[in-house]
Order: sequence, then structure tokens, then C-alpha cells
Amino acid sequence: MTSPAVGPSLPPAAIDPESPATKAKPRLGSLRALWPFVRSHSGLFIAWLLALAVASAATLSLPIAVRQIIDQGFSSGSNVDRVFLSLFGVAVVLALASAARFYFVSLLGERVVADLRRKLYGHLIGLGAGFHDRTRSGELVSRLSADSELLRNVVSTSMSVALRSTITVIGGLVMLFVTSPGLASFALLGIPVAVLPIVLGSRRLGKASRASQDRVADANTLASETLGAVRTVQAHAREPYERDRFGSAVDVAVETARKRIRAQAGVTAAAITLIFGAIVLMLWTGAHDVIAGDMTKGSLAQFVVYALIAGGSVGALAEVWNDLQRSAGGMGRITELLQETSDILPPAQPRPLPTPLQGNIRFDNVVFHYPSRPDLPALDGFDLEVRPGETVALVGPSGAGKSTVFSILLRFHDAQSGSVRIDGVDLRELDPADLREHIALVPQQPTIFAASAAENIRYGKLDATEAQLQAAAESAEADEFIRELPLGFASELGERGARLSGGQQQRIAIARALLKDAPILLLDEATSALDAQSERAVQNALERLMQGRTTLVIAHRLATVLKADRIVVMDRGRIVAQGTHAELIAQDGLYAELARLQFID
Ligand code: ADP
Repeated sequence: MTSPAVGPSLPPAAIDPESPATKAKPRLGSLRALWPFVRSHSGLFIAWLLALAVASAATLSLPIAVRQIIDQGFSSGSNVDRVFLSLFGVAVVLALASAARFYFVSLLGERVVADLRRKLYGHLIGLGAGFHDRTRSGELVSRLSADSELLRNVVSTSMSVALRSTITVIGGLVMLFVTSPGLASFALLGIPVAVLPIVLGSRRLGKASRASQDRVADANTLASETLGAVRTVQAHAREPYERDRFGSAVDVAVETARKRIRAQAGVTAAAITLIFGAIVLMLWTGAHDVIAGDMTKGSLAQFVVYALIAGGSVGALAEVWNDLQRSAGGMGRITELLQETSDILPPAQPRPLPTPLQGNIRFDNVVFHYPSRPDLPALDGFDLEVRPGETVALVGPSGAGKSTVFSILLRFHDAQSGSVRIDGVDLRELDPADLREHIALVPQQPTIFAASAAENIRYGKLDATEAQLQAAAESAEADEFIRELPLGFASELGERGARLSGGQQQRIAIARALLKDAPILLLDEATSALDAQSERAVQNALERLMQGRTTLVIAHRLATVLKADRIVVMDRGRIVAQGTHAELIAQDGLYAELARLQFID
């Protein structure tokens, strides 16, 4: 069965090494992909740059005020007032500009990440079955949340600190030379020495960061998978097992993060030691200059404050560099995902389906194997014509290819050879969205969203009127039980319909299909037995749904095969027999055997 998997897949949470998310190495350049997102908020970006310029200028003029205080502030009364007033003025400008800078850049970060997430989600939801078969949804959710979170940090913090620190380092250096060219030469020597360990450490850091994010994704994947199948986990009493698995996944993530943190800590220690080593050296030389009378105390103080500001900024750059490395990994993964293309694309000039659609379906010599199973054809020379309004029951052992027929018809996959036509139009000439508008699917395990009953039914036709909605629910024999829910049609159904019985979930799915009112119906009958009353309600609902539609049904019940116009028996991707129930029983082949096992107890 290819319909939505319900149970957890049990192998441990190892990420598929072939998965798109684990291939690339982190490159700072991958952050460039963020630029278009930043540019689309150019107003905020420019406001931030302005605020940044003002704040940096204020920061850089503080040391001048310090020199004036030391050299003139203690001389006469009027000077004291003026000097301290100007110091306070600078502080106020710095405060306002810093607040503005923080506001603009934080908002920019939020907006950029929101755009990025919107774009990524929009892309992922449109990617074909091929991609989603090989990628775990939990991993994608982790990319959408954890990796995006990292990027918010880049824009609102790292980018900001990087630019601010660069400006301060450059401005500070210039002012150091202005204050004392001789002492400033020491600073010029100090900076490369301080930057060296940062550059050397960053390669290691980049790798460690990516690994760390990947382990976070592993843990997230595991959690979303098992929480999504919590009943299966509990039914097997596997809570301790899952706790252990999640615990180990988290431990691995912490251990991987520890390596990154250690590398980062080392870089920080080295950078600070070297920077302040250089500062102490300068101070020592400067002290000799002051003693010798070559320099005023205020100038030395101004120099030291500049050196502290510049040195602190170099340290900040080191830390930011680490953050940027981390986020580059995240952005790399997101970019890879954004570059994934669907295997199923609409043609440049899609043909419209004829209106009204008759609903003639024709498979001609279709050969198809799933991408992951190139050796095993799921359909092997499959020929079938379903006339408009006809009901054809597909029966066959599990793995015969019945669900694959549905997938091909919905164009989740394209056949490798042969053709599939609807009213004479090849599926490949159609826009998949147009095709799917004309097909209603009632899966074996209906999907119920965590939304109200009305919203769940409306999924079949978003703009349905209240009357259409009621009529669909009535036809599906769902109105009665829905009205008995605490809030009627407005009642939340709980995630995956947890608050409904199996038969009720099926009737919601049938109501949804009724509302969609598509000329072609694909019905995968539920295998699980319902109680007699629920069974009758579902059968009645289905009969109404099938009326006047071309129906392909994967049949598991005698009642269904008896009512079908034709039964098609499949085995290993081929049709091995067809006819009515009586004809096929008389042949005493695969069908007779299946019927004995499945339909007739
Ligand atoms: P049925 O619905 O008759 O039980 P399916 O159409 O689900 O059979 O499967 C036909 C064959 O294709 C089986 O061998 C199955 O293992 C394989 N198959 C089904 N879905 C996939 C998939 N997504 N990827 C790879 N192989 C698949």
C-alpha cells in the first residue's frame, strides 16, 4: 500500500545519507542566498544602515569626550559643565541610535525569515511524490523551524554585529592613528595575530556546526514521527523504547554541539588573549611616553578607550564569524531544498480537459517502476479501459499494483512507458492540478485534519456554500453524528480525527469527495471491519458517491465486487483476469482463491 503511512517506521533515526539535506559542505557563500530576501525589505535595511552609522559615530566620539574630561574637565568650572554636557549628549544619541538599530535589524530578521519559511513551505508542499517518498517529513519540519531560526539569528544579530564591529574596528584604527601613530602601529600588528586563530578555527567550526544541526534534525524527525503515531507506540507499550531512542538522539545532538562549542570557546579565548595582550603592550609603551612628557594623560586615555573598542569589536567579529559559519550550513540546506525540482511538472502549454468531462480512462501498455525499485515493475504492461460511468473493482493480492494504478492516474508518478489518457487526452499534456481537480480520492485511511468538521469537509471544495456542505454531509450520512458533537459542524475533530470512529472518519472523507463532485472517483476501500450499522451507513454513502461517476475501486468487500460492473484481477502489475464475480469464480483462478480468503468467510 502506498497510501499515507500510519505506523512508525522502526529503523533508528539515521538520516538517509542520500537525502538532499546532508550532502553539501557549509560555505559562508551560501549565505548570499539570503540577500534577495533582505533586499525585498530595502526600507528596513536602509533605516538600519542609517541608525548603525549614527550609533557608530557616537561610539567613536566617546573617547574624545574622555580625553577632554581628563585633560580639561578638571581645570575650570565652565569647562567641566560643557564637557560633561557634551558627554551626556553623545550618550543620548548613542542610546537612541542603538535602539533604532536594534529595532530595524530585528524586524528585518523576522521579515526575512518569514519570507524564507513561506517560500520553503510553498516549495516543499508542491514537490512531487518522488521527493516526499525519499525525504522524511520530520526532517523537513526541522529545516523549516530550526534552520530558519538560525537564519533569523544571522540577520538580526550576526549580520548586525558583523557590520557594526567592522565599522568600529576600522573607525577605531583610524582614530588610533589620529591619536598616536606610533602606538597605533602596535595595534596593526596585533590585529592579524588575533585574527589568525579565528580563521584557522573556522573550518573546523563550520563542519562541527553543520553536524550539530543535522543531529538536531535527527532528533526532531524522530519526535515528529513517533508523536504522530503515538497510539501505535503506546499500543506496543514502546514508550520506554522511544524515550531511550529520543534520549540518545538528543544526547548525540548535545555531544555534537559540545564539539562545536569547544572549538568556539577555544577561538574566543585565543582571540581575547591576543587582543588584550596587544592592548597591554600598547598601554605599557604609552605609559612610558606620558612619563617622558611626549603624550598627555588624556590622549593616552583616549587611545586606550579606542583600543578597547576596536579590540572588543575584533572579539565580537570572531564570535560572529562562528555564528555565520553555523548559519551557512542551515542556509546551504535550505537552498538545496529550494533547488529540488518536482519530477512531475506541468507542460509549457497544458491542454485543458474537455468540459464536461465524460470520465473515460484508458491505460495502454503502462510499464512503471518506483524510482527506488528500478528492478521491480509495479505495473508491467498494464492495459485497462474504464468507460464513463462504469464501476471497476480492482482486486488482487497485496503488492499487486492496485494503489500504483491510483498514483499513476493522479500523476504522482509518470509511467516509464505506455500512456494513460482521460477522455483521449494524455495525462502528460495536462496540468497536474487541473487533472486532480477532476478526480476525487477516498483513501483507505482517510486524512482528517486538526480542524472543525465543516473545514474538513470543505477541503473538497473550499468555496462550497453552507447548503452544499450540509447536503454533502447528509448524503454521506455524516450529518447525524456531526450534529451530536459538542459544537456540531464547528467541532474540532482532533489531530488525525482522533475524536472520531473509523466509520465516521470514512464518512467525513466521503462527504469531502461528494462536495468535490469530480467525474472520476478513486476509492480505496477500508479493510478494517466496521460494526454492522456503521458499515451500512458507509455503504449507503459510497453508493451515492459512486452514482454517475467513473469509479475505480480497490475492493476488499464482497458487496463491492458484487455491485461493480466489472472486476479486474491484478497480480504482479498485470491484469490476470476480468469479468463478473460469477464468471471469475467459475474460472477457479486467482480470483476464486482470493474470494475464498477475503470475501467469503
Ligand atoms: P497494492 O496496492 O496492490 O497492494 P502497490 O501498488 O502498493 O500494491 O505496490 C505495488 C508494488 O510497488 C509493490 O511491490 C510495492 O512494494 C511497490 N511500491 C509501492 N509503493 C512504493 C514506493 N513508494 N516506493 C517503492 N516501491 C513501492
